[in-house]
Amino acid sequence: MIKEEHLKIFESLGGKIIEGFPIINSQVYYTAQGTLYLKEPGVIMIAQPKIRIENTEEFLKGYQNEFEEYLKDPNKLTSGTQLIKFSAQLCYMSFGPKRTWNKDAERYFENIISSGHGSVLEHSYYTFLLYGISRSLTHELIRHRAGFAYSQQSQRYVSGNLIRFVERKEFQQDQELHRLFEMRIDKIKKEYDEIYNLLKEKQESLSILGQSDKEENSHLKTELRKKLNQCARAIFNNETEAPIVVTANIRAWRHTIEMRANNYAETEIRELFFRIFLCLAIVEPILFKDYEIIKYDDGFYGVKTKWKKV
Ligand SMILES: Cc1cc2nc3c(=O)[nH]c(=O)nc-3n(C[C@H](O)[C@H](O)[C@H](O)COP(=O)(O)OP(=O)(O)OC[C@H]3O[C@@H](n4cnc5c(N)ncnc54)[C@H](O)[C@@H]3O)c2cc1C
Repeated sequence: MIKEEHLKIFESLGGKIIEGFPIINSQVYYTAQGTLYLKEPGVIMIAQPKIRIENTEEFLKGYQNEFEEYLKDPNKLTSGTQLIKFSAQLCYMSFGPKRTWNKDAERYFENIISSGHGSVLEHSYYTFLLYGISRSLTHELIRHRAGFAYSQQSQRYVSGNLIRFVERKEFQQDQELHRLFEMRIDKIKKEYDEIYNLLKEKQESLSILGQSDKEENSHLKTELRKKLNQCARAIFNNETEAPIVVTANIRAWRHTIEMRANNYAETEIRELFFRIFLCLAIVEPILFKDYEIIKYDDGFYGVKTKWKKV
């Protein structure tokens, strides 16, 4: 069962659930000069497991000792939880009447998590589109390797026109810091355009930039544009937005949430991982039942569990 506290905080952040997929969107703002920026992480779950447990019928029947009864469990679990439970129960062929039934799934997972048998949690994957987060955040995020897959917006392929920025909470809360932030990103945007145009002019004379972008061949044209983008982007700062698609399994998400949704972590990444935690705990409450929410003195939320790094 989804914890009421989780839903309440999720909704207070503007979260909504569409066909079982949680979404916390982030509003886009713009300066007087039209430079786009965001103030908080956007977290959109775009994929989660889908199980068809009935497909195991022939396999279960093949043992001729009531294993097919496994499929008649009256209590349904979410796909992600059922997938892990089935996989774990396969290890001991616990499909008979004495197995742990779905009604006792919470206890079953408490045993798995408390005894550190985390490898079974690796079966269920969840994918998020994350945006409204800075390049400095994604630099920290992608340090997490085990069980993760990433696809991040390229500053070489993507033109400077599509670049947005992220304002830190500290700057949002102070008029002067906010004014300086807006001035800074306007200046960066303007300088980017100036540098890009200058580079384009010099493409003929500077061989390192390639020949020219007047090429007919579209592949070559892209290559030449990349040479301009990759040079002009040098002036982007850590506040540049870096949208990223991240896929990870439950074991990896749990470990990373524990590392990042606490007060030792940097505040922007902490805010992001708290939102990711809420989305996952709403979709898979049993798999995150051991987590407690903490509200720190600085107003940010975090989580803790006594069963770390399963
Ligand atoms: C508060 C905080 C401050 C930090 N400060 C710094 C800093 O100043 N400088 C810096 O460089 N980094 C810093 N980091 C990053 C940190 O050192 C890790 O690189 C990052 O958190 C990834 O975590 P992980 O090592 O658990 O890797 P994950 O990829 O998340 O791996 C999960 C687990 O899998 C196992 N594993 C993964 N890969 C291997 C492997 N190759 N060999 C053996 N076991 C493996 C480990 O048990 C690991 O804990 C910081 C992180 C945090 C949370």
